[in-house]
Amino acid sequence: MTSRRRRWLSAGTLAAAAFLATQLAGAPAAQAEPQLAARILYYNASGAAEFVSAVNQGAANWNASVTNVQLRPVPAGGRANITVVADNGWPRAQVTSLGNGRIWMGRQAVQQGHYPPRIAAHEFGHILGLPDRRTGLCTDLMSGSSAPATCRNDRPNAAEAREVNALFAGSLVSTATAATFTWEF
Ligand SMILES: [Zn+2]
Repeated sequence: MTSRRRRWLSAGTLAAAAFLATQLAGAPAAQAEPQLAARILYYNASGAAEFVSAVNQGAANWNASVTNVQLRPVPAGGRANITVVADNGWPRAQVTSLGNGRIWMGRQAVQQGHYPPRIAAHEFGHILGLPDRRTGLCTDLMSGSSAPATCRNDRPNAAEAREVNALFAGSLVSTATAATFTWEF
């Protein structure tokens, strides 16, 4: 019993060490242990004006909900997968491929009472491969503007999170087609 336990602990320690090595070594080690590697997508919110904190909140909410992909602010001088800007139109996302594209934090929806962190999380949802689903339900992040403007839900639900995890599982080859999604139509 004692030796079995010791062996189990030893295996656990080795797994922890392997995980740490993967984290430190980056992509080459990640290929050896693909189940441990979350794909990192960098976003640049420097053009998001008054919405920077909402954008960060939207990204953090996805990060807390999924394991196969994570959204991080791009380091200075680095190349961003996702560019986030503010303008006076409707919020929208232009997806160039899975995990890549551009988000507009449109003020028009904010002026009508829509919650900026929900808008940001919703638009990130498009970049992460999800379409609009106008269910009218506040519990659905991808219901977007079909939910009441009073909706403050800025997190993906379990089904939405599962879907994104599945899209980013295994091969990192993009299968998403280019598309543009607008908050209100
Ligand atoms: Zn949308």
